[in-house]
Amino acid sequence: MAEMNRRELLGLGALAAGLGALGLGQAGEAPAASGEYELPKLPYGYDALAPAIEEKVLRLHHAKHHAAYVKGLNATLAALAKAREAGDLASISGLSRALAFHGSGHVLHDLYWRSMRPGAATQPEGALKAALERDFGSVEKFAAHFAAAAKAVEGSGWAILVHEPIGKRLLVLQVLNHQNLTVWGAAPLMVCDVWEHAYYLQYANDRAAYVDAFCKIIDWPGVAKRYEAATK
Ligand code: MN
Repeated sequence: MAEMNRRELLGLGALAAGLGALGLGQAGEAPAASGEYELPKLPYGYDALAPAIEEKVLRLHHAKHHAAYVKGLNATLAALAKAREAGDLASISGLSRALAFHGSGHVLHDLYWRSMRPGAATQPEGALKAALERDFGSVEKFAAHFAAAAKAVEGSGWAILVHEPIGKRLLVLQVLNHQNLTVWGAAPLMVCDVWEHAYYLQYANDRAAYVDAFCKIIDWPGVAKRYEAATK
C-alpha cells in the first residue's frame, strides 16, 4: 500500500496536514524518506530557557522523553502494518491505544517546544488578545484559568489553549496523559507539559512554581501566528 494511503487510513495524513497548516511539526510532521516520524530539533539551545527551565531538564526532556514518543509512534505504525499483513486483528485494539498515546505525545511535545521562547517576556496582542478577552473575560483571567488548569492536572498531563472551530472560540483543556479529555477538531495553540519529567529535576514537587515560570516564557507572537492560521 502506498505510504500516503497508509498514513491517511490511520488518520495521520490529516493530522499532519492540519498541523502543517498551523505551522506546527515542521520537522516532526514531514515524513522522512522512510515514512517514519523524526524528532524535531529544538528551536533554541538546551540552555536558552534557563533559569525558568534548566539545561539538564530541557536536554533530557527532548532527547530522551520526546524521542521515546517518536520511537513509540514509529514502532506502533510498524506493528499495525505487520498486524494487518498477518491478519492479526486481535492486536488492533491495543495498538490503537498505543497510537493515540505515542502520536499525541509526539504532537504535544512538538508544540511544547514552540510554546516557549528565550529572552524578554512577551504579551498577547492584537486579534489574539481580543479573543482572550472575549472568551475568558480578560488576559489576566485567562492566565489564572490556564495556570489553575495546569497546576491541578491529576497525575501526568497537559494544559492546552485551543481554538475550537465550530464555536469559533478559545478553550483551555486539561489533558490526562497525552490523549485523554480532548475536544476533537480543536487546534492546539499553546501547551504546558505538567508530567513530572518536565520539572521534577529542577522544581521537585513544586509544580506550581514550574507552571508560574512557564507562563513567563510563553511565546505569545508564536501563539498569535497559530491563532491567525486557525481562524483565517
Ligand atoms: Mn513531556
